[in-house]
Amino acid sequence: MPPSQLASPYRTHSCGELRASDAGIEARLSGWVHRRRDHGQLIFLDLRDRHGLTQVVIDSSDAPAAHATASKVRAEFVVTASGKVAKRLAGTENRRLPTGEIELQATDLSILNESKTPPFYINEPDAPIDEALRLKYRYLDLRREPMAERMLLRSRLVHAIRDAHHRAGFVEVETPNLIKATPEGARDFLVPSRLQPGNVYALPQSPQQLKQLLMVAGVDRYFQIARCFRDEDLRGDRQPEFTQLDLEMSFVDEDAVMSFVEAMIVGVSKATVPERPVLSVPFPRLTYAEAMDRYGSDKPDLRFGMELVNLAPELAGADGKASSGFRVFDGTLAAGGAVKAIVAPGLGGASRRETDELTEAARGYGAGGLAHLAVETAGSVKGPIVKFLGDDRAEQLVAAVGASPGDLVLIVADTEKVANEVLGKLRADLGTRLRLADQNVLSYAWITRFPMYEWDAENERWHATHNPFSGVLPEDEELLVTATGDPYRPSPRDPAGRARAMQYDIVLNGWELGGGSVRIWRRDLLERSFALQGQTAEAMREKFGAILDAFDYGAPPHGGIALGIDRWAALLANQTNIREVMAFPKTQSGSDLMLEAPSPPEPEQLAELGLRFVGAKGPTSSEPLKPDSVA
Ligand code: ASP
Repeated sequence: MPPSQLASPYRTHSCGELRASDAGIEARLSGWVHRRRDHGQLIFLDLRDRHGLTQVVIDSSDAPAAHATASKVRAEFVVTASGKVAKRLAGTENRRLPTGEIELQATDLSILNESKTPPFYINEPDAPIDEALRLKYRYLDLRREPMAERMLLRSRLVHAIRDAHHRAGFVEVETPNLIKATPEGARDFLVPSRLQPGNVYALPQSPQQLKQLLMVAGVDRYFQIARCFRDEDLRGDRQPEFTQLDLEMSFVDEDAVMSFVEAMIVGVSKATVPERPVLSVPFPRLTYAEAMDRYGSDKPDLRFGMELVNLAPELAGADGKASSGFRVFDGTLAAGGAVKAIVAPGLGGASRRETDELTEAARGYGAGGLAHLAVETAGSVKGPIVKFLGDDRAEQLVAAVGASPGDLVLIVADTEKVANEVLGKLRADLGTRLRLADQNVLSYAWITRFPMYEWDAENERWHATHNPFSGVLPEDEELLVTATGDPYRPSPRDPAGRARAMQYDIVLNGWELGGGSVRIWRRDLLERSFALQGQTAEAMREKFGAILDAFDYGAPPHGGIALGIDRWAALLANQTNIREVMAFPKTQSGSDLMLEAPSPPEPEQLAELGLRFVGAKGPTSSEPLKPDSVA
């Protein structure tokens, strides 16, 4: 940044700007005292602002008054210093600092503001600090270098996103936060209306309906850095309010949306973290069925292999029937289930305790058990099930999964769904534990062709797997019917259960980064889909009246997507918790520890809104973060 932009009566330069070529000029710097070293006649202050660090030296023989002030200064005081820029003596340069070749020889120093001793070290980036303390004093936490860097990364990310969209002809439109509920599958936050007592607004779970209405309005290409609100239990990658890159495009099919988004993602990644390579462009595309079959997950981490292998062919006898000799496998296959495996590289020497732990984990994920075969370094296969299978069959299985000497083969026999899901979770755990993923690369992938619906037995209706507005693949449109013929009486036997959506999710390094779809844009079809989702004609009018009516006035074909910006920033910054890339996040229990929110309202506020709390527990003190919440 050129000096002219930051110069003010307080400073001629920022603390990150002066170089050897500036030696000899007069300069004034202002900032925080990062560190102070008192060498008697010489006092050194490392002066910090968000642009960098400059060494200031005060010599008592040149500037006795400044020296007296410097001896009173403590860490985090805000000071202003002026004097001459000088090259440091040969051998005292600091190569790690861009300003490390010079120092400011201050003849004038004043304290602009004092600081109490901060509750944690600001100048030691690696010091472990209790997260609750960091959140309470977030303004101090944000001064720390790693946090300050992540805030800058996030700002670069959002800047690059805006640039990419404006270049591609998108219009940035703000949509309101006080709206009517838009279902995204979570609980709404409600805001009582003072002007209309007894009525509430909902905070948007996403701008979904509004962006579709903007397509009907002819905006053609819309985007927004949108705040969304979902009242759900919090996890490492969730917060009650979060930010989405929300976009929608007219006259598009799935490919048009995906190719714009893919190019945008590659450009934005390069602009934000140029040092991190994108693993494969074009991004791999997997259908949902393929992702579940090969990786046991609809958000697979493709930075490493460890694919799931179907063992059924190896377990069959000459007649095609399962006859491996191990009852659990044979019985599962005979009942229509699956026997699948993954290979944990290098775990062949796992102890009994380690294999027990893996079995426990598999049970926790829903499997009845976990079988294993260890390939010893000499090549022989060991494991409790070898006595049932026989050595030959065991070796055949090991060969079929591609295990090498020293590897461990983990096998789940269950319904196909459970086998996939359990092995998918073990795969993800082992990937982390065995450090199989290159931490530097960005591995984006598309997952497509999700089922439109899953059966919601409790409410006897189909539940949209992603978005209630998602379109159906043209070849599956005829499936959007009920078995009874009455559109308002869905049942688990409906052909609709087989319909696939024009839905695509974008995955990054094993996280779901976002998802979108080409939408239903005809009123009759949307009504059919809503009916399958259990909406009566009455409820449709009440909840979705605006969009249904709008579709009567010429809705263009359209589709879009939303990407979680907090998740994206966290992944680009190699963090596992989105709190690390949010300026002012909330705790697991939804508290803002700094502002102490939520808090009880004033009685007058309640009265004005015509509200009374029934059975409320009263004010909750802001609970400290539990250790396990720092996911
Ligand atoms: N509205 C969806 C969501 O927030 C994204 C989309 O389909 O565009 O998840």
